[in-house]
Amino acid sequence: MRIAVLALQGAFIEHEKMLARLGIPSFEIRQRRDLDTPFDGLIIPGGESTVQGKLMRELALFDPLKDRIEKGLPVFGTCAGLLLLAKKIDNDTRVHFATMDIVARRNAYGRQLGSFSTEGEFRGIGVIPMTFIRAPYIESVSGSAEVLARVDGKIVAARQGNQLVTAFHPELNHDLSVHTYFANMISGQ
Ligand code: GLN
Repeated sequence: MRIAVLALQGAFIEHEKMLARLGIPSFEIRQRRDLDTPFDGLIIPGGESTVQGKLMRELALFDPLKDRIEKGLPVFGTCAGLLLLAKKIDNDTRVHFATMDIVARRNAYGRQLGSFSTEGEFRGIGVIPMTFIRAPYIESVSGSAEVLARVDGKIVAARQGNQLVTAFHPELNHDLSVHTYFANMISGQ
């Protein structure tokens, strides 16, 4: 198994370190020719969704990646990555891949609570640490999208078939369980 990490902006190195700890080979996608390397899953890191969306379009990565996600490529979006996959962002007119039946809210926790850490129950895993940085949350899921975690009633993780999203940053904690969950999605377990 090899996992590609979108490495245009944001917290991509932290994801690569988590994968290395799991013994899963990874490589960075920075330009179009990186797509020639075969890969079994894609991680879209946290950062700024608008910047990542713009760079993907400028670098001609956007259409081929969207096509692969639509065809079933397993994808894990954290924070900005969640926003890039959402079909609707209720406080932004832009959408990006728009492959996942979730409505997201950007910078949803406001300035006071911009960044915080907590613990929460993740379905199928148990209680895990959750670190939020100017995070979105998911206002609603529809279609075959399922809620995997809530914090204070807000949806903070969801899955729809090959797509997994978290509003928090599992790559910033020691706990490997969400990356393991994604690896199991890829291997079909
Ligand atoms: N607020 C960022 C955005 O709108 C997401 C923050 C993050 O990824 N830590 O893209």
